[in-house]
Amino acid sequence: MPRRKLIKERVPTPERPPEERIKDFKEVNLGYTFELAVREAERCLQCPYEYAPCIKGCPVHINIPGFISKLVEYRNDPDKAVKEALNVIWACNSLPATTGRVCPQEDQCEMNCVMGKVGDKINIGKLERFVADYAREKGIDEELLFEIIPKIEKKGQKVAIIGAGPAGLTAAGELAKLGYDVTIYEALHEPGGVLMYGIPEFRLPKEIVHKEIEKLRKLGVRILTDHVVGKTVTIEELLQEYDAVFIGSGAGTPRLVNAPGINLNGIYTANEFLTRVNLMKAYLFPEYDTPVYVGKKVIVIGAGNTAMDAARSARRFGAEVTIAYRRGEEDVSAREEEVEHAKEEGIKFVYFVNPVEFIGDENGKVKAVKFEKMRPLEERDARGKRKIVGTGEYITLEADTVIIAIGKHPNRLIINTPGLKVERGKIVVDENMMTSIPGVFAGGDAIRGEATVILAMGDGRKAAKAIHEYLTKKRQEKANA
Ligand SMILES: Cc1cc2nc3c(=O)[nH]c(=O)nc-3n(C[C@H](O)[C@H](O)[C@H](O)COP(=O)(O)OP(=O)(O)OC[C@H]3O[C@@H](n4cnc5c(N)ncnc54)[C@H](O)[C@@H]3O)c2cc1C
Ligand code: SF4
Repeated sequence: MPRRKLIKERVPTPERPPEERIKDFKEVNLGYTFELAVREAERCLQCPYEYAPCIKGCPVHINIPGFISKLVEYRNDPDKAVKEALNVIWACNSLPATTGRVCPQEDQCEMNCVMGKVGDKINIGKLERFVADYAREKGIDEELLFEIIPKIEKKGQKVAIIGAGPAGLTAAGELAKLGYDVTIYEALHEPGGVLMYGIPEFRLPKEIVHKEIEKLRKLGVRILTDHVVGKTVTIEELLQEYDAVFIGSGAGTPRLVNAPGINLNGIYTANEFLTRVNLMKAYLFPEYDTPVYVGKKVIVIGAGNTAMDAARSARRFGAEVTIAYRRGEEDVSAREEEVEHAKEEGIKFVYFVNPVEFIGDENGKVKAVKFEKMRPLEERDARGKRKIVGTGEYITLEADTVIIAIGKHPNRLIINTPGLKVERGKIVVDENMMTSIPGVFAGGDAIRGEATVILAMGDGRKAAKAIHEYLTKKRQEKANA
């Protein structure tokens, strides 16, 4: 591309104003138009592929300057520009409409973007989202898919995937493209994992997740919902029917606060609250039949993405919402954009408080939370967060609803499989993502604990490659026998 004048300021994406968006669950950020996307794409310096820090920062190593350059090169033909750009993205990422919306780009691809030295970093996530959205709206993704499908060479081997979250879906898509016969076993009645039951519509519309999953079905992936592995079928049984198994069962068991009063009415885990709201669409009750109770004063305990999603969802029911976090603002782990949005929507933050008691009324309903005030130390823990200690001073905050969002760990049903090596609740894998059971691979939150969508997808891709190598060897051994 010819050299261009440096454009320091990022082209902003339009957003709905806070006073309007807190009244519904529709998407907050409206994304780029083609014209805006091209203007933002023109800012990219097109660092060489071998050097570009954005590619290094992306866990699945998307050729970022490669896809951005297509938008500029074909600026006079938007459909071609998007088709070319999507083709580059799909080589590494099969769910770009999702990752473009939910990845913490500030800690990944955008972290070391060279443009950051002279101005704003390139808005990579929103460009990725634009390409995926435009392609979906114009049917360009279907066109590309139907060009890929006839080139698939069937291998005649079967792979079972446990869990239809980002890890399982990615592994399934990659294996289907390589010609394997893939079946996903999903416990819930809808595939998508956290994308469906955790992340709310106002950040990730469910229609988009459905369509991304539909593409995988078109690639030949079979999805069996309402199948709980460990109950409906065991891993041992799957191994008799399939040539390999991938476990992508996530980390869906919530951690609870060990304090008196935890069982009072009005206290939810964020998992339950968000599942009711997102998966069961309780925000549309009685049109949908799952109810959810949200009072007038809500306290959310924790400050990760889950806490932010729970708080912003509760706000949309008209509640006054406070996020209570045991550390300080610098240690909040949620994405920057979500924290900004939460603040704009009027959510209050109280730092350095740790819950020690939930106080109930005479009917067993929560009415307040007692917190110990905390103090930071100079020392940091393994994740780089400052350690904290109790001060012996307390405060009590009123609440008629409390949502606990202090993390989750992997589900016991899978990790109790005989012969499966597990350490601190997480499945142990070798450098090829294989578990202690030969032919059984794993990835995503099931091996990492709660992490990110793109890391789960990166694991799914890596495991698919390893499964392909494992099964290629098996085919060769069979042919030589
Ligand atoms: C509320 C919330 C918000 C988040 N926001 C972000 C964000 O903005 N950005 C980001 O990058 N990450 C975010 N995360 C983290 C991210 O969603 C996870 O890291 C990611 O979904 C992990 O993918 P996974 O495929 O490993 O697991 P999951 O998405 O948990 O999927 C696992 C699937 O396995 C199924 N399953 C479990 N056990 C069984 C069984 N025995 N049999 C069959 N199926 C089973 C589950 O039903 C589920 O569908 C968020 C997480 C939460 C909870
Ligand atoms: S680091 Fe930034 S400027 Fe360089 S190629 Fe990546 S997005 Fe473009």
